Amino acid sequence: MKSKITTEVHTHTIASSHAYSTVHEMITECARKGIELLAITDHGPALNNDGAHYWHFYNLKSIPRKVNGVYVIRGAEVNLLDFNAKVDLEDAILRKLDWVIASVHNPCLDAGTVEDHTNMYIKALENPLIDALGHSGTPDFSYDIDAVLETAKRLDKVIELNNHSYSTRPKSAENCKKIARRCAELGVWVSISTDSHSMYELGDTERVWEMAMEAGIKEEQIVNLTAERFLAYLCRRKGFDRAIFENTGF
Ligand SMILES: [Zn+2]
Ligand SMILES: [Zn+2]
Repeated sequence: MKSKITTEVHTHTIASSHAYSTVHEMITECARKGIELLAITDHGPALNNDGAHYWHFYNLKSIPRKVNGVYVIRGAEVNLLDFNAKVDLEDAILRKLDWVIASVHNPCLDAGTVEDHTNMYIKALENPLIDALGHSGTPDFSYDIDAVLETAKRLDKVIELNNHSYSTRPKSAENCKKIARRCAELGVWVSISTDSHSMYELGDTERVWEMAMEAGIKEEQIVNLTAERFLAYLCRRKGFDRAIFENTGF
């Protein structure tokens, strides 16, 4: 089954030390592969010595909004640090970003109870500066799927289905399917992402696309199916002017 995703909304550059391509390489590769939009979502600073410094996020304004025909979205994958959904970037910086994914990474948080994880994900979704939950299928951090997904639906937020989970978090596969099926039933927005850590992974959404289709996800609920839909979502929910994304300069 061929994936119809034409955007990349979860990617890492060399600003995260375990990723291997520059912004320029990522953009050039997107243009070559016909990917219309690239969100740069490097790891928040709490990920040991691996995440980007907070200046990285502050200064994303140095990159034009559109390069070589590719929309460049200023983003972050912030770390959830506690069960109150505290994250590792200040609100003042999050406000400067277009797109913020909140994820759990083991070095930043020890697992608690299902109730802890449920409350954490609900609080994260309630934070107006957070747009999406990243790779939430990790079984170590399982949660009450109905409670969290109903919150996402109510607040117009996004649940990510992540292709990288198949290689780095293989134990997540069953749980991801369960989450995807419930997203399909509730009509929650989902994003389908590669979580690319190098330019070579860009565009590789085949496996997660197939899983999403099997789970009954409809194309209408995939927030990043096309650049236009993704930008419309950001503009509608966050009040951005659509015209800013056409700026090829500053
Ligand atoms: Zn992650
Ligand atoms: Zn990531």
